[in-house]
Amino acid sequence: MASATQSEKWSPDSWRTKPILQVPDYPDAKALQDVEARLATFPPLVFAGEARDLKKQLASIALGNGFLLQGGDCAESFAEHRADNIRDFFRVFLQMAVVLTYAGGQPVTKVGRIAGQFAKPRSSPTEKKNGSELPSYRGDIVNGPEFTAAARIPDPIRQLEAYRQSAATLNLIRAFATGGYADLERVHQWNMGFVKDSPQGHRYQELADQIAETLQFMRACGITSENTPQLRTTNFYTSHEALLLGYEQALTRKDSTSGDWYATSGHMIWVGDRTRQPDHAHIEYCRGIKNPIGLKCGPSLEPDGLLRLIDILNPKDEPGRLTLICRFGFDKVEAHLPKLIRAVKKAGRTVLWSCDPMHGNTISAVNGYKTRPFDRILRESLSFFEIHRAEGTHAGGIHVEMTGQNVTECTGGATAISEQDLSDRYHTHCDPRLNADQALELAFLVAEQLKK
Ligand code: PEP
Ligand code: MN
Repeated sequence: MASATQSEKWSPDSWRTKPILQVPDYPDAKALQDVEARLATFPPLVFAGEARDLKKQLASIALGNGFLLQGGDCAESFAEHRADNIRDFFRVFLQMAVVLTYAGGQPVTKVGRIAGQFAKPRSSPTEKKNGSELPSYRGDIVNGPEFTAAARIPDPIRQLEAYRQSAATLNLIRAFATGGYADLERVHQWNMGFVKDSPQGHRYQELADQIAETLQFMRACGITSENTPQLRTTNFYTSHEALLLGYEQALTRKDSTSGDWYATSGHMIWVGDRTRQPDHAHIEYCRGIKNPIGLKCGPSLEPDGLLRLIDILNPKDEPGRLTLICRFGFDKVEAHLPKLIRAVKKAGRTVLWSCDPMHGNTISAVNGYKTRPFDRILRESLSFFEIHRAEGTHAGGIHVEMTGQNVTECTGGATAISEQDLSDRYHTHCDPRLNADQALELAFLVAEQLKK
């Protein structure tokens, strides 16, 4: 049955006629319009052909072959826009991908939460501290994180800075991906270093040794990174939450080869758990662009609501178009995921199932820090695999908030970060991220599931 939304005509600005949540209160409408008009003249950050390549890879995962690794910062920051931060993230991400590729014996599609992940949905429009109340921080693309009235005023100029930062980040990542940094031998050497130094290293030794032996065998056969480009380069895609729709609209372009509309702010964009109302603006925007789309699925999403969203976002049941990013919480996944899987299966729809074990597992530590216990993150991930095994469906991916830095934001992991340790290196402006060791440890533990 076609819904009202589907039969209405779509255009890059048709979202403006719909109800919308999470909109910043810009004091100067003219200044905002001027910025959007300028952005609309800037070059695209990504190309339609790349988004189509990614969609093809996601299609094969949705059909049961391959695995999606998606991850990066909760929110990118202007202050931390440094080459070493980007490099360290990319390095750990590649390390995770190698472990998952080997264990699963399947291609791993790498999608960063990077080069555009600047806007943040908030649970409350205001924030209280020491008796005063100010508008919430909504990500560097909107306002500043400092707790002052001036910093919290939304400033449209920030959108230009976010665009420039995204372009520079993407440029560096493209160079890393093709310029030799991603060489498989090197990435494996880094993993051997991790296994040697980790207190839980013995647990990962076997897998690491198997990869080493395989590389040695390939070398013996004459397959090396000098003569095999696939071993020294990699494919990497970008993604972010399409929250700030004025910015997204300005970067929406018609592809000259297909005549279709694409978001050129990133290869894949997703709709957050707070803005996925079927008749609202964010779903309206996403239904008309041809990129691969992610949809966050939290505990308030019922099977009927999900099927309605699938009808709107992927009416032709195109594989690779829709990734369902499930984020229920370690103690809720069992009550919510199976019913959604069964409904999708019964309706005969093709989706890629991915697990975000971060957003349903945020708690406040006794000292007030927002944190996520590693064992809850792991438990939700493991339940996700178990449930898919039981339902006969493909557990297709994982979506994590992580950094390449040695931060102390999530508790637990092999180095047993305690709630007291959180204050040592707690750098995030938004949600707590896995640090480099925790992220890699999670990859090794998820890899054990892929081998089953
Ligand atoms: C996020 O991915 O940063 C986020 C806010 O997620 P969700 O919409 O699932 O809460
Ligand atoms: Mn987050």
